[in-house]
Amino acid sequence: MSNDQNAPRLSFEFFPPKTPEGKTKLLKVREDLSELNPEFFSVTYGAGGSTRDNTKGIVTELRDQGIDVAPHLSFGGDTEDTIKELISEYQAAGVKRIVALRGDMPSGMGGSFQMVYANQLVAFIREHFGDHFELEVAAYPEIHPEAPSYDDDIRYLKGKFDAGANSAITQYFYSPDAFFYFMDQCQNAGITQPIYPGIMPILNYKNLVRFSDNCGADIPRWLRQRLESFGDDTASLQAFGLDLVTELCEVLLDNGAPGLHFYTMNQTEPTATIVRNLGLSGS
Ligand code: FAD
Repeated sequence: MSNDQNAPRLSFEFFPPKTPEGKTKLLKVREDLSELNPEFFSVTYGAGGSTRDNTKGIVTELRDQGIDVAPHLSFGGDTEDTIKELISEYQAAGVKRIVALRGDMPSGMGGSFQMVYANQLVAFIREHFGDHFELEVAAYPEIHPEAPSYDDDIRYLKGKFDAGANSAITQYFYSPDAFFYFMDQCQNAGITQPIYPGIMPILNYKNLVRFSDNCGADIPRWLRQRLESFGDDTASLQAFGLDLVTELCEVLLDNGAPGLHFYTMNQTEPTATIVRNLGLSGS
């Protein structure tokens, strides 16, 4: 969508809305965020495939509007045939990009969840769909919580590229040093494909802590203390968060990050403000 070949790549992530009101709101958010010229939007896939129909619904609706949209995908509890059929539907709808994941085990799903590592999903898509799709995979500058070791996690990331992934998007983080160290280690491991930092705006302290504890993203102690000090003053917390995340993005881009992937939480703000603060908006 962006015309400037040298501009950092922007992408914006949504989760599939559960209600008609949520969907109406999301379609408006999409319209507003399109003014910032993202390369693509992406739509998450509920743990274990629990949002398969919702994700497909919103992805095909956005495709009908001519929008570049990348569904997130994991095997979850599905068979190869079901996954192949879903990908064929995406192909027929004009989808050109997929975010290929192992996914997380949904609570209560038990034995029907298949531990299909993301490199296997990448290989599966390449085997059955050739080079039709650009494939994004997940990367973890602070290391995936289940990884046996730092080096193993990088080795498994390399395995995803070797299986045919084009680029990676990272888990969010607030320590640029963690990202730059990770990039150095990726380079040492022979990874040459672009890795786009995932950016999580700060909206609510308690939700951020809960979410970060679950996914293994670190909130540095000083930052926890600072955020906690705002108490119920959400407006001040969000203003602080905007400055902090804008500065993080600036440092990342100034030091070679090829673009930014925003976890928008289905909201126009604060993503739009941060992108405008950075002077990246095309409007
Ligand atoms: P993998 O790359 O398969 O890695 C999973 C773990 O297994 C890691 O610890 C890795 O070190 C290890 N591993 C990898 N390969 C092997 C192997 N061959 N043998 C042994 N161990 C191995 N989750 C969702 O449910 N839905 C989403 O839409 C979603 N979107 C995301 C988007 C982004 C950008 C990111 C960063 C994460 C997203 N997640 C999503 C979360 C992700 O699914 C979880 O972090 C999940 O636990 C790991 O997925 P992965 O694709 O990174 O897995």
